[in-house]
Formats: sequence, C-alpha cells, structure tokens
Amino acid sequence: MDAANPRVGKDAVRVIFLGPPGAGKGTQAARLAAHLKVPKIGTGEMLRTAIAKNTPLGQQVHPFMETGNLVPDHLLVALVRERIAEPDCDRGFVCDGFPRTLAQAQGLEEMSGDPRAWVVFDFEVPRPELMLRLSGRRWCPSCQATFHLKNDPPKAPGVCDACGTGLVQREDDHESVVALRLRQYDERTFPLIEYYRTRARMIPVDGYRPMDVVFRELLQAVGVPA
Ligand code: AMP
Repeated sequence: MDAANPRVGKDAVRVIFLGPPGAGKGTQAARLAAHLKVPKIGTGEMLRTAIAKNTPLGQQVHPFMETGNLVPDHLLVALVRERIAEPDCDRGFVCDGFPRTLAQAQGLEEMSGDPRAWVVFDFEVPRPELMLRLSGRRWCPSCQATFHLKNDPPKAPGVCDACGTGLVQREDDHESVVALRLRQYDERTFPLIEYYRTRARMIPVDGYRPMDVVFRELLQAVGVPA
C-alpha cells in the first residue's frame, strides 16, 4: 500500500497524458484505461459534466473554461483528490488533462506518492495539425464522445454514434478561444515535461500518426500485450 494514499496499491498503474489540446490525449487515454481496466480521470470531461448539471462547481468553472483559461489549481486538486479516493482507483488510473500546472503536479504527488514508477506520455503534434484537429472536432454534449468532420466522422452526419444526440462544436474549440488555450499550454503545462523528465518514466509520443499505431506504442511502453 501507498503511504500517501493507503487505498492505492503499491503496484497500481499510474499513467499521465501530457500534451497540447487536440493532440489526441483523450482518445488514447480512454483506450488505454479500458485496456488496463482502470478508470480514466479526465478533468476536462468531469468539469464539463459539472457545468451540464449546473452544480456549484460547474457554475464556478464555466467562466474559465468558455474563455480557454485554466481553472484554478485548488479546485482541480480537490476534484482529483476526491476521485482518486474512490475504490475503483485501487489498481491505479490514467490521468487525461491533469496535472496541467506545477502546483497540480505537486498536489498529485501529495495524494498519490512518489512518481518514479509512473508513466508520463508527452504527446507532440505540429501546431497547424492541432488547429485542424480542433476546428474539425465535434462533440456530443450528452455522452461526451468526440468525432472529427474529416478524420473520424460519425456514421450519420451531425449525430452521435453512441447515443443519437446532435453533435456540436465545443465552445472552447472555437478559433478565438483555441489560441489562448495553446498559450496556456505553452506557459503553464509545457514546463511539466522538464519536471517529469527526472522524476518519472517520461515517454515522448509522436501523436502525428494513425491512432492505432500510436496506441500500440503506448501498450508497449506500459508493458502489456495488445
Ligand atoms: P480538456 O477537455 O482537457 O481540453 O479541458 C478543457 C478545459 O477544462 C481546459 O481548457 C480548462 O479550462 C479546464 N481544465 C481541464 N483540466 C484542467 C486542469 N488540470 N487544470 C486547469 N483547468 C483544467
């Protein structure tokens, strides 16, 4: 058992996905978590759910998210702390979109222990490709499935394959907001690559390749059969 969080076993797998918006973290993190049979902790998704349900947290974070700003660290650390304490995280978890700042990385260590055995994937994708991916992304406001107009279109145009809801563009995927999100990434999240280089198993991932090729590389890195 782990001294920082007695619920989380010593051999639990902990994976962190770093990378700019549009790099494919969410899709790959969901696939990897399903494959490893551990939960995916996607903070963007959790916050969007809170907004959809109009909870006090949702009301608090909406102004930050719609403008492409990061939500304050203390809210994120509290959200993840609560999530990690749930029993399904006993065998570990895959983090998508958290941590995004140094303070959050330190918060995660406080709640989850020494990061030496963690795998940190750093997704790299050229900027023009990120812009194309984000502008063509369509999102299901009901089940949060994502599609892409060209690269991953839904079976029926404009309709979610999974639940039949009408697809929309996320408000923070609009071009005017994307620029600020990328700046936030450069200024606040990019430094985490250096931070984890010496503290965890940092693995750079070329995200500018077909999804299946990237996924096979992730499986190899975490040492599990496909
Ligand atoms: P994502 O779905 O990961 O692209 O996140 C969408 C938005 O949610 C971000 O632009 C932030 O406003 C907010 N958000 C998600 N995760 C975090 C985090 N770890 N720290 C601060 N803000 C976050």
